[in-house]
Amino acid sequence: PVRVRFAPSPTGPLHIGGVRTALFNYLFAKKNGGTFYIRIEDTDQTRFVAEAESYIFEALEWLGIAPDETIGKNEKFGPYRQSERKAIYKQYADQLITNGWAYYAFDTPEKLDELRKEAEANKNTFIYNHTVRDTLDTSLHLSKEETVKRIQSGEHYVIRFKTPVNEVLEIQDIIRGNVKFDTNLLDDKVLFKSDGMPTYHLANIVDDHLMETSHVIRGEEWLPSVPLHYLLYQAFGWEAPEFAHLPLILKPVGNGKLSKRDGDKMGFPVFPLEWKTSEGISMGYRENGFFPEAVVNFLALLGWNDGTEQEIFSLDELVEKFDLNRIHKAGAKFDPDKNKWFNHQYLQKKNDVELAAMYQKELAKKNISTAHDMSEDKLTKIVSLVKDRANFVTELYDLSDYFFEAPKSYDEKAAKNWKEETPVLMEKVANELEKITDFTAVTIETILKDWMTANEIGMGKVMQPLRLSVVGALKGPHLFDIIEMIGKEETIRRIKKAIE
Ligand code: GLU
Repeated sequence: PVRVRFAPSPTGPLHIGGVRTALFNYLFAKKNGGTFYIRIEDTDQTRFVAEAESYIFEALEWLGIAPDETIGKNEKFGPYRQSERKAIYKQYADQLITNGWAYYAFDTPEKLDELRKEAEANKNTFIYNHTVRDTLDTSLHLSKEETVKRIQSGEHYVIRFKTPVNEVLEIQDIIRGNVKFDTNLLDDKVLFKSDGMPTYHLANIVDDHLMETSHVIRGEEWLPSVPLHYLLYQAFGWEAPEFAHLPLILKPVGNGKLSKRDGDKMGFPVFPLEWKTSEGISMGYRENGFFPEAVVNFLALLGWNDGTEQEIFSLDELVEKFDLNRIHKAGAKFDPDKNKWFNHQYLQKKNDVELAAMYQKELAKKNISTAHDMSEDKLTKIVSLVKDRANFVTELYDLSDYFFEAPKSYDEKAAKNWKEETPVLMEKVANELEKITDFTAVTIETILKDWMTANEIGMGKVMQPLRLSVVGALKGPHLFDIIEMIGKEETIRRIKKAIE
């Protein structure tokens, strides 16, 4: 059965890359009737950030891609927090020592530092591997008794992996194909520390095995760890899961990986939810008015497509169409405009009543007084008239403010259409409007146009100044729709004010 996981380290807010990894795991699980679980990889105490864990769950919940199994939910393979699994890892580290795949290393941090500096002075890099391990202070040249004695006396130690020499590993990756690694180029990674904590590598492999992970779907930055992981599976005699390494997400301009800081620098969110620290606030999609469905849709296309030109996919459709074999190797450029475009598309698809309810909340936030006595029907109509220009619900007000209040100023350029004869003409228009009893767009339009024809008045002479009077600029939807909405009294009031 398909069992996949998202395994974040709670070191800060989950960024767009992490969210995409979670999404692809979610889609793959659902597509295959499998399970999507979340495991919190919090073994690195130095980088631990307390709020990060709840942030991750809240974000995925908001996006609608919550896990089937995790802390507090269907805990079949729990605990799901690695810090609560400490005891488990120790026995596996011991197992590797016993079967000769790992060894104790007693080198002090000072000694390693010295070796690093020495190498640097010779324009080299110090690598802890097969070429030096025999000259270092390890259990490889100690008797069992001596090793035990030193550990019991409280000496600082780590457990390192004994990487085999002269092997070429050929590993299949679903996205990258056959990838080769030369074991001579690998270092003897630390698997376990004397503080009783495993490192990422050991904990990750042990848990992926114990939690019966079928596929490891994660970011490309983990590709260099694959040979070690593969060897660890071999060392334990376990079957390795299948691997799929997702392409990088690239900056909108130039090359290089999109960084957590790029968003705030360039004015767009790269985090699902806002993140506040003493240093400031990082923008979140949620707080910036993005719809979760639009964010999910946008992210799904960062590195994947279904082979057609289709861009708009509901979550259900994504589940149906998703295929790991259609993920490309090349990095995917992050395009903030495209991101907004998706939101625009989803805004257009919302039903107007639903949109009006969201708009109502925006108006309340802005303390727009007329909003309270604006009927739901009216607000729904306003939304339907202006939404095609909006990317966000928060933009609706700027597009429709004239429905709520008379213009405070008139667009200067447009005011050029205000000629000497305009006031007299507008006075007459006001009189005509006054007479109309059925104050609906169609009737108003018919009556005014008939009146203009009968009096041989050019359309432009009336329509532009009328729009300017009512809206304050030459923008907005069909003028007679606006006039109907505003009502007779208010329209005439605005005309009179413009004449003054
Ligand atoms: N804890 C790792 C991370 O933060 C997990 C990597 C993996 O999926 O193996 O990304």
